[in-house]
Amino acid sequence: MNLLSLFFPENIVYAEDNFSIVYSSYYDIYLGDHIFPGNKFSKIYELICFDEHFSKISIHEPEKATRSNLELVHTEEYLDDLLNLRITDRTKNSELPLTERILESFLYGVGGTILASELTSKYQFVFNLGGGLHHSFADHAEGFCYLNDVAVAIKHYLKHYPGKQVLIVDLDVHQGNGNANIFEGDPNVFTFSMHQDNLYPKKETSNFDIPLEEHITDTEYLKLLDHSLSDIERKIKPDIIYYLAGADPYEGDRLGNIKLSFNGIRDRDERIKKFAQKNNSKVVILAAGGYAKNFMDTVRIHYHTAQIFARK
Ligand SMILES: [Zn+2]
Repeated sequence: MNLLSLFFPENIVYAEDNFSIVYSSYYDIYLGDHIFPGNKFSKIYELICFDEHFSKISIHEPEKATRSNLELVHTEEYLDDLLNLRITDRTKNSELPLTERILESFLYGVGGTILASELTSKYQFVFNLGGGLHHSFADHAEGFCYLNDVAVAIKHYLKHYPGKQVLIVDLDVHQGNGNANIFEGDPNVFTFSMHQDNLYPKKETSNFDIPLEEHITDTEYLKLLDHSLSDIERKIKPDIIYYLAGADPYEGDRLGNIKLSFNGIRDRDERIKKFAQKNNSKVVILAAGGYAKNFMDTVRIHYHTAQIFARK
């Protein structure tokens, strides 16, 4: 056995007709030693390119989202401020600088989630190696999120497929407050968020929230997830799932205090895949957060997610 086979086991087959990837080299941003790992996107991509099992998996490059895409969710006033790089009450709550380059990265991120949604007409599972910007509201920025790619892509999808049932499964360690707020009362979109309770953000009300105590580990987390998915199944038969596969419930994360192991996170991802297969749902997978002490742990977690959804 050579060393590489430890990382890239040989006996797995990937389903190139069922899984696809969306990625743009514009996703990376340079932030110095900021806690947001602005270069994780290219590292996930590199790991995937290095793994020959992915060689037949198609990789699609998004365009930038247009202003009319963004207007499906965001207000005119907010977009006027943001697109002109103005620091105002609407933009100032972001924890990232507001520059041309950072804005460009967000526009490609939103374009990526839109493209991933469109590609579900061909593939059951599509992983945008960016996106999951769930803290952005219609009229203001928050956290590390200037634009809400999830909400824009869902509105875009529903414009083309009116009446479809959409489920957001948000397993990032932070609550999907922006999505909960944007889709409140929307009969086509069911928001589910399982997140650490005593952590940013100020909570909004999702259709289904599971607030978690600190220090929860694999067994308890997965049990709660199983129960939640059974409950959700009784309420909605989703045509499409937007899965925010955040890497930040990991035990080595610097922002969260949930204690999932690598294997626990793999099991989490497997459960979402099985749930989708059972319900015949398409899945747009989004990277969302990840702030591990060891940067490559975050990258590895996202790469594992790709492996799980790519497998036959
Ligand atoms: Zn997060």
